[in-house]
Amino acid sequence: MEKISVIVPCYNEEESMPLFYDEICKVAESFKHVDFEFIFVNDGSRDRTLSIARDLSKKDKRVRYISFSRNFGKEAAILAGLEYSVGDYVAIMDADLQDPPSLLHEMYDGIKNEGYDCVATRRVSRKGEPPIRSFFAKCYYKLINKISKTEIVDGARDYRLMSRQMVDSILELKEYNRFSKGIFSWVGYDTKWLEYKNVERVAGTTKWSFWKLFLYSLESIVAFSTVPLAVASIMGLLFFLVSVIMIIVIIVKTLTIGDPVAGWPSLVCIIFFVSGVQLFSIGVIGQYLSKLYLEVKKRPVYIVKETEKDKK
Ligand code: UDP
Ligand code: MG
Repeated sequence: MEKISVIVPCYNEEESMPLFYDEICKVAESFKHVDFEFIFVNDGSRDRTLSIARDLSKKDKRVRYISFSRNFGKEAAILAGLEYSVGDYVAIMDADLQDPPSLLHEMYDGIKNEGYDCVATRRVSRKGEPPIRSFFAKCYYKLINKISKTEIVDGARDYRLMSRQMVDSILELKEYNRFSKGIFSWVGYDTKWLEYKNVERVAGTTKWSFWKLFLYSLESIVAFSTVPLAVASIMGLLFFLVSVIMIIVIIVKTLTIGDPVAGWPSLVCIIFFVSGVQLFSIGVIGQYLSKLYLEVKKRPVYIVKETEKDKK
């Protein structure tokens, strides 16, 4: 019998988990001739998430869980889930029911009968989100798709069902700084996109502040584009050309109309401008260097403290 693994990253989701479990069980029952495993990844929650996962796995054989030693972030939770999963198909789903489990039917159908390797979801509306956040999100997607060869789809969620082959390819990418949306797209394969309207979470609060999202977007740019590195050289070249023109102009001016002493303010402006650009460029290089530093250290992406096997 074929098996679908459902990976659920959970960080302080004690309120949503029971609701989620009920929903996913309903969906699992409506599948005929398909086995399920639910992998709850407890990402260092400070509430009762772990004990709920333990209880569920005690009473339901399909429930497995992995518990981290601390909070490692959703990317780490996704990776852990993918590594632990054994199903022929693997789904990634949020615990807050923002990813409607009922879409699994359509996803499964897309892979099984329409020949896709992956069926993913994207939101077409951003209802319930502050307008300023939507605005920045739009700008971000425009920018990243200009400067990166890997397509980052606007509004794409992590909610998707993938074939085993695709999952194995994803696991071959051993990078430490993981940006899943980019990785899913980088490995290629045929992806079908399902669109749906934004659903608000059933319980609890979002873990993403504006600042966190902003840092995350910077990380994704560093992970999937090297264009910012080239910007420094382009600006350097531009300034060089401008300075050559300026030198010629000044020489000609001095020879023809003499050299009255002036120009202190303009000089200060130029110094400020050029040193600003230099610091900015060093900062960009620093970003890449810091990521490189973390990659070279080869630290594990997550540390597992407990799984369902430890409690049997
Ligand atoms: N999550 C996680 N680790 C974190 C932050 C979030 O595993 O450090 C999980 C969280 O429990 C949820 C999913 O990632 O299942 C999506 O998080 P959230 O709903 O806060 O994000 P949003 O839907 O607002 O983008
Ligand atoms: Mg959510």
